[in-house]
This record gives sequence, C-alpha cells and structure tokens, in this order.
Amino acid sequence: MLDSASVKVEDKLYQNRYHVDEGRPHVRISPEAAGSATLQTLVKVCPAGCYEQADDGTVEVVPDGCMECGTCRILTDGTGLLEWSYPRGGYGIQFKFG
Ligand code: SF4
Repeated sequence: MLDSASVKVEDKLYQNRYHVDEGRPHVRISPEAAGSATLQTLVKVCPAGCYEQADDGTVEVVPDGCMECGTCRILTDGTGLLEWSYPRGGYGIQFKFG
C-alpha cells in the first residue's frame, strides 16, 4: 500500500496496466511527417513517453502505455500528422483507481 502523502506520479502510473493490441497501434505518425517540429514537441509533452526522437531528428511513436489523454491529438488536430483512434475494446490502458 502506498502512502498517499509521499506517492509520486510515476508510482501511481506504474499501477496501471496496458493491454497491447499487437500489430494494431492506435496512434500512428504519417510517414511524411516524421521530421515535423510539432511532432518533436510531442516528445516533451506526452505524459506516457510514447514519442521518441531518433538521432536524425525524426519522431517515432510507440503507443504502448498511452493513457488516452488526447494531448497529442489536440496538438496535431487538423494537421494530418497523426492518425489517432481509441484502442479496440479489451485493449489499451486499464486504470487502477484508488
Ligand atoms: S494520447 Fe496522451 S498518452 Fe497517448 S500518446 Fe497522445 S499524448 Fe501520449
């Protein structure tokens, strides 16, 4: 049992579970958009660390652990940089409350 007075965000997030839908990522980057400055911003703002920047500056997304917060979806709305959908039923984040 975690002491609520000293618990860190990372400790709380660690209690969630994620069900991977193999071969069907629910967030994808459009191939021609990988070097976009907007995508580079997502590396810093995604709370789950799903975005990574490679040495050549391109950005990749691995949505395992995605919390479906929608931040990346909002930041790229209307740009065509991302394909974003909720995971299929039974997959994705399973939050632990309490
Ligand atoms: S929805 Fe939120 S947690 Fe999921 S990839 Fe986008 S920013 Fe990260």
